[in-house]
Amino acid sequence: MKKKEINSARTPVYRDAGFELPSAGTTSDAFAAEIDHEREPELYIYSRYRNPTVVAAEEAVMATEGSAWALLAQSGMSAIDIALSIFQEAGKESRWLFFSEIYGGTLSYISSVLEKRRGLQIDFFRPSGNSYDYELLEKTLDDTRPEILYFETISNPLLMVAEGRRIIALARHYGARVLVDNTFATPLLWKPLDEGADIVIHSATKYLSGHGNLTAGVLCGNDTTLMKSAIEYRKYVGHMLSPDDAYRLQTQLASFDLRFTRQCHNASGVAALLSSSDEVGSVLYPGLATHPTHEAARALTGGKGYGAMVTFDLKGDNAEGKRSRRDRFIAAVYPEIRLIPTLGDSHTILMPVEAVWGAKYPEPGMIRMSLGFEPWEEVEKVIRRGLQS
Ligand SMILES: *Cc1c(COP(=O)(O)O)cnc(C)c1O
Repeated sequence: MKKKEINSARTPVYRDAGFELPSAGTTSDAFAAEIDHEREPELYIYSRYRNPTVVAAEEAVMATEGSAWALLAQSGMSAIDIALSIFQEAGKESRWLFFSEIYGGTLSYISSVLEKRRGLQIDFFRPSGNSYDYELLEKTLDDTRPEILYFETISNPLLMVAEGRRIIALARHYGARVLVDNTFATPLLWKPLDEGADIVIHSATKYLSGHGNLTAGVLCGNDTTLMKSAIEYRKYVGHMLSPDDAYRLQTQLASFDLRFTRQCHNASGVAALLSSSDEVGSVLYPGLATHPTHEAARALTGGKGYGAMVTFDLKGDNAEGKRSRRDRFIAAVYPEIRLIPTLGDSHTILMPVEAVWGAKYPEPGMIRMSLGFEPWEEVEKVIRRGLQS
């Protein structure tokens, strides 16, 4: 059957596993160009290497991030695996420094993959109380001289905001490459590449796609050598995103700005509402003046927003009392707000902190809420119902 050219305004979903090559000569040219790792190949070969729908979605991410390149992967974890693996070389001795307040999956990846299977030496930088001590960070950098420094802009679930500019400047001073997981802040609040970070990672499963309907990850940067290495690694490990998910990501990215602005607005409304309630114990939201990293957050984002996550607990006489108060709240906000273990969804969802993190954050009744982009009035009504339960 002959292929017909269609005047589509968007790049369609190209589900081809392999692409048709016109002749033996162009086949060898295409493979040679693939080794050269241009961002967009003249001829596509095989969808695990490169796919036009994925390239179109990558261009959309580049426009959002303001980066010279973006590489999509099957998940945030695949993007993290690519970003870290390109710095590994056989026989090279190097130490990597990670902030301890990072995504639980990344911590498990460090212990299960980097340490256990690859034998790397990993150091952790821990907060002092509930904020970071930058003199201690400088001392740690000086002592360990890491090749890589890795941090998250907004931590999970305590929502500590890192002084990103200061961290990047310190790391560069001590010769470390800087990798930032900016999933919680998104490019709308801060763009670490503008401050000299080497790679920015997002779980695009979260705010960039924003509807809880796909799993994807992306790494962005401005350095062509790193990009080529990342393309090569993604190709041989097979971390490529599917064209269907790339298509959905691209179309959903068009509303990212609107969605995330509303989500931040809803989060700051919920933080204020909870703070004013006698039923509530403590509220963690970087937009509140009471948050230990409020000033850092304001400096970092210029007050543009404080993210769309709120962590809080309800009052109770003791641990058991707090847990049952939490459970009553969760039952009362159902079905508008459900217990779903992700974040950055279209609707407001929540997680009991203790069930996920166990003893790491010992406050028994804590709830982590990820705000959706529903109209504020709807969110407010349901939260009030939960507080009255
Ligand atoms: C979810 C998440 C990840 C992992 O992303 P997946 O798409 O689930 O693989 C990494 N970092 C942060 C901060 C996340 O929230």
